[in-house]
This record gives sequence, C-alpha cells and structure tokens, in this order.
Amino acid sequence: MNLPSVPSSHDNIAALSSGQGLAALAVIRISGPKLKDILGRVLSDGGCLRKPRRLVLDQVLDESGEVIDQVLAVFFPGPASYTGEDMAELHCHGGRAVYGRILQRLFALGCREALPGEFTRRAFENGKMDLTRAEAVMHIINARTPQQVKAAARVLTGKFQQRLENLRRQLEEALAVAEALIDFPDEEIDFPLEAELESLAKELGEIRKSLFLAGGGAVEIAILGRQNVGKSSLLNRLAGRELALVTPVAGTTRDAVRFRTELAGREVEFLDTAGLSPKPADELDRLSQEKTRKDARQAALALWVFEATEFTPPPDWCSRPILVANKIDLLEKKQKEGLEKEVLSRGGVMLSALSGEGVENLLEKIAQRLEEEFGPQEGIPVSWQQAEAIDNLVAAIRRAKDEFHHNQLLITAEELRRAMGELGRLLGQEVTPDVLDMIFSRFCIGK
Ligand code: GDP
Repeated sequence: MNLPSVPSSHDNIAALSSGQGLAALAVIRISGPKLKDILGRVLSDGGCLRKPRRLVLDQVLDESGEVIDQVLAVFFPGPASYTGEDMAELHCHGGRAVYGRILQRLFALGCREALPGEFTRRAFENGKMDLTRAEAVMHIINARTPQQVKAAARVLTGKFQQRLENLRRQLEEALAVAEALIDFPDEEIDFPLEAELESLAKELGEIRKSLFLAGGGAVEIAILGRQNVGKSSLLNRLAGRELALVTPVAGTTRDAVRFRTELAGREVEFLDTAGLSPKPADELDRLSQEKTRKDARQAALALWVFEATEFTPPPDWCSRPILVANKIDLLEKKQKEGLEKEVLSRGGVMLSALSGEGVENLLEKIAQRLEEEFGPQEGIPVSWQQAEAIDNLVAAIRRAKDEFHHNQLLITAEELRRAMGELGRLLGQEVTPDVLDMIFSRFCIGK
C-alpha cells in the first residue's frame, strides 16, 4: 500500500506545543476544519468560540462529562491564524497525565497527532509565510545564543523575504527584457540590462556574505600539540575550572576532554586532545594519538599549541591551525619580543595558560576565524539547502551577465530562468512535496 508522505492536510491536528515534562503550564495546539465542533465538545462552556482571540477560562471534559482540567482556551478563526485555518490553544496544567489525557480526548474526537513542523507547514501551504520565514521558525527554536535568536527573529519578521521578493521583481524584469531582445531583434529596447545584472549580482553577493549556517550544534575547536605544551592547562583556563588533569607527566590526557561555551554569539566546544609525538611511547599512546588526529579532522578549527621556548611546527594534516605560543611567562623580555614578531606575522597568539595573559587575544582570534569560516552571527541564518540555492543563484546571475556581455542572448535568458528557479526554491514557490517533507520533518512536534 502506498501511504501519502503527509497524511491529509485537511485533517484536524493536535499536539503539545510546549516542552514535555513537569511544568506549571502546558500548551496544546489544535488546527483544522472541524475545530469549532471539536472545541464545542471538549470544552464545558466553549466561551472562546464566542470571543475569538481572547483567553477564556473553561474546563476540558472527558467522555463522561467529568472535568479533566481547568484551562484557558483561545480560538483563532481562520484565515487570520498561524496556520491559516481555524486554530486554538488550550493552556492547561503542566503535568504529563493532564496534557496526556486532554490529547487522548482530542484524538478520540477526531484529531490526529500533528507531525513535526505540521502547523508551520500549514502556515506555509496556506500562504501565511514563505519558506525563508518557515525555516526561521525552526532557527529561532533551535537558537542557542542571544545573537542567534536575534538573527532568526529578523528573518521571521519577513525582512529577508522582502529582500528576495524585490530581487525577484528585478530578475523578472531582466528576463522579460532578455526575451524581448530575442523575440524582437530589430527593436530598440531602452533598458540597461548589463548594469541591472551587475547590480543584482552585487546585491546577492552582499546577501551571500551575510549568511551563516544555522543549527548544527556547537562548533568544535581542537586543542592540539605535543605532550606537556600546556593543552590541558589552556582548556582549564578557558573553562575557568579544572576540567582536565594537569601534570608534568607526559601523556596524561588519553581521551578528549570537552568544554562547551559561547563565543561571540556562537556555541563552541573546545576539546583537549592527547598529545602528539613523532614516536608513540606504546600501543595505548599510538591509539590515543590516532584518536587525536580523528578528532582534529572532525573539528572546525584547530589550535596548535607549542612551548614559546621551542617552536614546533604543526603536522601537515592539520589544516590552517591558529598557532598558540604558550608559557610566555618563561621567556626573557628580549626573547619574547623576537618570538612575538614571528608568531603574530603568522596570525598566531602568544599566551600563558598559567597566568592567563594573552588568553583574551586568543578568544578574539578564534571569533575572527569563525566569522571568516561561518559568516557573521548577526547575519541571516540559513539551512545548507538555502545557502546552496543562493550560491546557485549568484552563479547563474554572474553567468547571465557574462553571456549578455558576449551577446549570447539565448544563454542569458536561460541563465536568468535558472536564477528565477533558484529564487523560487528559496521562497518555497518551486519546491516539491518531498523537499517540503524533508524541511518540515526537522521541526519539533507542535510547531
Ligand atoms: P599538556 O600535556 O599539553 O596537556 O600539558 P599540561 O597542561 O598538562 O601542562 C604540562 C605542564 O606545563 C604542567 O606542569 C603545567 O603546569 C605546565 N604549564 C602549562 N601551561 C603553562 C604556562 O603557561 N606557563 C608555565 N610556566 N607552565 C605551564
């Protein structure tokens, strides 16, 4: 039997929209065409139906008319609701048994449990929001730092959508001109198409620069170096407490010790690793060094720590690490000045994990590198699919501009149509149900 990927979008759906577990209150959302009838049956008074958009005190009843809970109910008649159809929220008490019984009652009355992201999917399908805003709903829920919340909120209010809509209008006009030039080669068409394409490419280039990949958890930063250079001491200094064991005995750290924190609005995780050496001391040492290499390859960024008194270069497999000269407290003033020049010119940092000197500089350097690699946190949070669509869009417009410059009108128009397709994909105008399934399945239930 072939089941549809999404059960009917005409079903009445219900789900717990607040977090699971014990809390003072819980919020149950319900949406669908038969909502009024269902509310009329589940509520003792149904006063919210007479006073839409207001919280009204009521009682939820079970099948025998007994009270399950006293609730605040609010009814949003469609289409002016989140989903665009009749929708309600029941604010009940937050015990699992309470909201569980209310949901069971709603299911018995003809609702089914909403799929992850189904409320937002309905909002999208009923034209209440475009795909950029629907994705922003997820980004705001998953945001881990105040900056990420702020960035997602900007998209949620529709500013990004507005910018893309403006681009679409410009693109449509450019395409119409290109097609007119093909269809009426003898006509004079007074439109600066090349300049227009240039300005489109520029605007998109700016958008591209301000994007950052949302979600995906903390950015991993591996602390690498030979044994005893002070990796664990650095991790402890960053954490402000003793997480990793620090001893003068080489090879103390066998398994990676991790510390998660926020850095310039981004969630980062530092991991202390087992020290590397040209020749492992024994089998256990060989295995832990192998693990270090694996961890380092998976990390987004590596810090190569070495003793300021003796520079050891990072291994070849460690790509673009930040050089960290540790133990500068052991240096004479003159030695320090000489090394400083060398290290700074390679974009590195001088510090003492022991005294804390220079650690702030390291944090600034890391924040700078993360911004280079992942985009600014105050920018526009996007999923990788959105980032890919924007990359394709920029490339298509650039090609259109080049082709137009070489008088290749047919290819110019084709590239512009491709760009329109990518823009449509971003705004959700040209996406298949399968793609929508994939996008909304990343949401939580009740959203
Ligand atoms: P790891 O093996 O690289 O993790 O190194 P540890 O953090 O265990 O440190 C090895 C030794 O170097 C310990 O005795 C630390 O106290 C010492 N150490 C670490 N950082 C510094 C520093 O900045 N200055 C000085 N003087 N000693 C340090």
